Amino acid sequence: MAKEHLKTMKVLLVFSGILFAVQGCPPIISRSQWSTRASKCTQALSTSLRYAVIHHTEGNRCFSMSACKKQLRNIQYYHMVTRGWCDIGYNFLIGEDGNIYEGRGWTKMGAHTRGYNHISLGISIMGNFMSVAPNSQALNAARSLIQCAASRGYLSSSYILKGHRQLGSTECPGNKLYNIIKTWPRWS
Ligand SMILES: [Zn+2]
Repeated sequence: MAKEHLKTMKVLLVFSGILFAVQGCPPIISRSQWSTRASKCTQALSTSLRYAVIHHTEGNRCFSMSACKKQLRNIQYYHMVTRGWCDIGYNFLIGEDGNIYEGRGWTKMGAHTRGYNHISLGISIMGNFMSVAPNSQALNAARSLIQCAASRGYLSSSYILKGHRQLGSTECPGNKLYNIIKTWPRWS
């Protein structure tokens, strides 16, 4: 009986390993790991979304987890307290520490691209990327998050990658970052 159980466990482990490889999803730092502020968001976000929209926060860059978490709390304070939004505006944020941080996540509609929030996933790299590019850790994290979203069906299999400036009058996500994402798969 115990041996059978072990066998089952092994099969399950191999199976989940294969699943992980197929879905290729990177680790994501959950919202509760950087914020104690409760989200007041109620509007759900559907799956199979048409757009992935790349942003920059236009604020400070961060290169360590502690600096990135502090920066996340600053942005969240600005969005929730100063602007009165239900939570930090983006679905996910990325630091130049290479980490992906959950904002509103997969299931709540963001507040990042007017007119497109209900049909897009908003991903923002922390910093101002007008005249400098984000480092490769941040860029790789963004690409793997997008791939993960498509493989799990959060994004449509025929999703389109956009920079914020293509969908509204803004310089976001900055000239340098925008020139980079134009070379990524499914940008149009
Ligand atoms: Zn933006």
